[in-house]
Amino acid sequence: MGGFWFTEKQTENFGITMKINRTLHTETTEFQHLEMAETAEWGNMLFLDGMVMTSQRDEWVYHEMVAHVPLFTHPNPEKVLVVGGGDGGVIREVLKHPSVKKAVLVEIDGKVIEYSKKYLPEIAGELENERVEVIVGDGFMHIAESQNEYDVIMVDSTEPVGPAVNLFTKGFYAGISKALKEDGIFVAQTDNPWFKADLIQQVQRDVKEIFPITTLYIANIPTYPSGMWTFTMGSKKHNPLEVAEDRFHEIDTKYYTKELHNAAFVLPKFVKDLTE
Ligand code: SAM
Repeated sequence: MGGFWFTEKQTENFGITMKINRTLHTETTEFQHLEMAETAEWGNMLFLDGMVMTSQRDEWVYHEMVAHVPLFTHPNPEKVLVVGGGDGGVIREVLKHPSVKKAVLVEIDGKVIEYSKKYLPEIAGELENERVEVIVGDGFMHIAESQNEYDVIMVDSTEPVGPAVNLFTKGFYAGISKALKEDGIFVAQTDNPWFKADLIQQVQRDVKEIFPITTLYIANIPTYPSGMWTFTMGSKKHNPLEVAEDRFHEIDTKYYTKELHNAAFVLPKFVKDLTE
């Protein structure tokens, strides 16, 4: 049996190691190093700058939790923005909400879209849906140019490195507030509490200064650093823990449920401490 072992170093002293059956595509794009590989355990997997982005076997945890928590919290989400998310997974989940008339994706690297369509068809398959508008561009600039436009904004970006550095700044969150409608909601993936506690604390501080309702929720993502992932939500009016029972319409998911919607906000003490 061929193949080789690959380690993603998650800190200087710790990493995740996996068996790669074969490399499907590798190139240095205008923005980052892109690698698509067939892994023995997780199916096809997208790496950017050597970091796991998404895999066929566990992708639905992250994509469902980024999309359904804000989209069920908002009473009538019609226009939605995804910043990043070039693999298409969040867009696929967004389209499961019939109220959404338009979903805009702003992904800086067109190669991520191209190779996700080729090697992750079950994730990227909805990017050509008629309700979707794909813009290849900088999400920071798109937000700066948007005003009172979106009901829900999801920031599905890479870590705060390279092109994503600006997407974790207070200025960006202020721009998001401006781009949202008066009762808008935004969610950003905010990494893990074991290795990125400072980042989570900083984002919580910044978002609290801009949004009246700021919360943090978690999910288990086995291929991400530490396996415990966080999402920061900023909401102008609607509380994610006060969703009317009749809002939870039927939806096809593998991880998200209406019970888990509330449970995801129950944090281990060491994580809750990061929000205070
Ligand atoms: N789920 C992954 C995670 O939590 O790290 C993110 C997956 S998605 C592939 C991340 C995407 O963000 C990448 O395709 C990257 O090109 C995109 N991205 C990074 N900076 C960006 C920016 N400033 N504007 C738009 N997209 C950006």
